Amino acid sequence: MNASHPPYVPSYRKTTELLVVHCSATRPTQDIGVREITHWHRQRGFDTVGYHYVIRRNGEMETGRPEKAIGAHVKGHNANSIGVCLVGGIDAAGKPANNFTAAQFVTLHRLLGQLREHYPEARVLGHRDLSPDRNGDGIITPNEFIKACPSFDVAALLKPR
Ligand SMILES: [Zn+2]
Repeated sequence: MNASHPPYVPSYRKTTELLVVHCSATRPTQDIGVREITHWHRQRGFDTVGYHYVIRRNGEMETGRPEKAIGAHVKGHNANSIGVCLVGGIDAAGKPANNFTAAQFVTLHRLLGQLREHYPEARVLGHRDLSPDRNGDGIITPNEFIKACPSFDVAALLKPR
């Protein structure tokens, strides 16, 4: 925490249409959470951590911004979405990797279940699914992903098993 940083004052969303899953794009050995991400996001000029929830490597959930506050996690959609970040998502070489722990997925399922009860109209998707459809075919294909975040297919995760 930087004592000289101005206090964070939330502004609140009117709608919640999207539940957006992110990764921290850190290596699996990096056991970080809201505290570290808050520091990084402040360095990037955000008021505080951009996400509403962060799920640590051990599956522990941490709260970032208040749930009803406008986040800073996905360009163009912050005013109508909640951002959830899984810690991990790149390998030792810095390449995108679905290397999240089983405990993280358990927590993610539980959290998304709760959020879907509170916001039944909201769509659940990954950050990369909100990349612009550059060739205009209506489908976001992998070569159109701005980045790989969150390094896995959120829609496939949500399919009933
Ligand atoms: Zn993201």
